[in-house]
Amino acid sequence: MFPTEDSEFDRQHLWHPYTSMLDPLPCYPVASAQDCCITLADGQTLIEGMSSWWAAIHGYNHPRLNQALTDQIAKVSHVMFGGLTHNPAVTLGRALLDIVPPGLTKIFLADSGSVSVEVAMKMAVQYWSGHTQTKQQFLTLRGGYHGDTYAAMSVCDPDNSMHSLWKGYLPEHLFVPMPKCRFEDVWEESEADALRAAFAEHHASLAAVILEPIVQGAGGMRFYHPQLLKRVRELCDQYDVLLIADEIATGFGRTGKMFACEHAEISPDILCVGKGLTGGTLTLAATITTDRVAEGISRSPAGCFMHGPTFMGNPLACAVATESLRILAEGKWQQQVQAIEQQLKAGLAPLIDYPNVKDVRVLGAIGVVECHHPVAMAEIQAFFVKSGVWIRPFGKLIYLMPPYIIAEHQLARLIAVITEAVGQEALFLAE
Ligand SMILES: *Cc1c(COP(=O)(O)O)cnc(C)c1O
Repeated sequence: MFPTEDSEFDRQHLWHPYTSMLDPLPCYPVASAQDCCITLADGQTLIEGMSSWWAAIHGYNHPRLNQALTDQIAKVSHVMFGGLTHNPAVTLGRALLDIVPPGLTKIFLADSGSVSVEVAMKMAVQYWSGHTQTKQQFLTLRGGYHGDTYAAMSVCDPDNSMHSLWKGYLPEHLFVPMPKCRFEDVWEESEADALRAAFAEHHASLAAVILEPIVQGAGGMRFYHPQLLKRVRELCDQYDVLLIADEIATGFGRTGKMFACEHAEISPDILCVGKGLTGGTLTLAATITTDRVAEGISRSPAGCFMHGPTFMGNPLACAVATESLRILAEGKWQQQVQAIEQQLKAGLAPLIDYPNVKDVRVLGAIGVVECHHPVAMAEIQAFFVKSGVWIRPFGKLIYLMPPYIIAEHQLARLIAVITEAVGQEALFLAE
């Protein structure tokens, strides 16, 4: 059991993501987690539909990931990366270069997704700093999400991330409308008009385009057409603007390809990965770029890239990430993600007939139910927990991103509970 005074301390003193300190949403104490289940302190087990914010792709308490960690602990948990290096970083680097889109060769090991985005944006600005033209602006799509630190936030959707709150403090970048043409739609060439216009007008000041390839995640769980990504790549080449692909959510198989860029057969100039990189065990991310960008930065006035986190290249995180990539390299994820996709498509499709459901969409191991009304967070969370599942919706979106190892009956249960939820008015706000 979880002592009441511990719950009370948590309420009084610990910030949780996106909730008030005055009247926080309830938190459920966790005792342990195994495979695709979380066990709460009261002994109840919940089927995991979120992969702990999309990171625990192989499930919990994985013996091979645990072994990689304990083996590495016995050697060295951490040393500074300035002037020192180690086998876990080198091995991870090799494993990453084996799978990332072609042309990406230089790896910066960062400590979280948001930091890897900061690093990518700094790389782009520093790359152009040696050129006569000042190129410091970024172009992005509305509806995106790139993290919660300042530079990352400045390219998140302006409404979702409340840019108005930070006015004067946040650099102002360029946004084109949210993509309308969906993944499976017939491509409409006019979809790229706004991009073409933005490039034509602003290319001289643009350092880079930054976007989430194919899947816009936390900004709204939308899947857009691969041709749009192709057009962005072409425009970047035509106007000499860098392309940053934020694959923190989509990387490592989630969309059915190892990286979502593969749906459009493009390579970015800078790639960000995180979340699933360590199989959800430790915080680690990477920003991977090309020889051209790395050389440009190294020849720029500073002479080196100006960033160096204390916990850069943490050996424990690198060792467990390498093991996670080894599991992926065995290739089972492809059948697993395909099976999840088919089951999500079949299982969620009937929900479109519910009056509260506006849209149902599935890509790879991502299933989304978009409702007409926003969820009543505390109520729907309690309903899900009572029903034995862990699903954490936001706004009007109830979605699933389960671990790849989820069993058919577990996924069936997640789908059944969502089906029950969308029919219950009390779990939604009237708005
Ligand atoms: C989660 C996420 C981030 C931020 O990663 P953190 O590790 O939470 O800092 C950035 N970009 C995308 C696309 C994400 O999904």
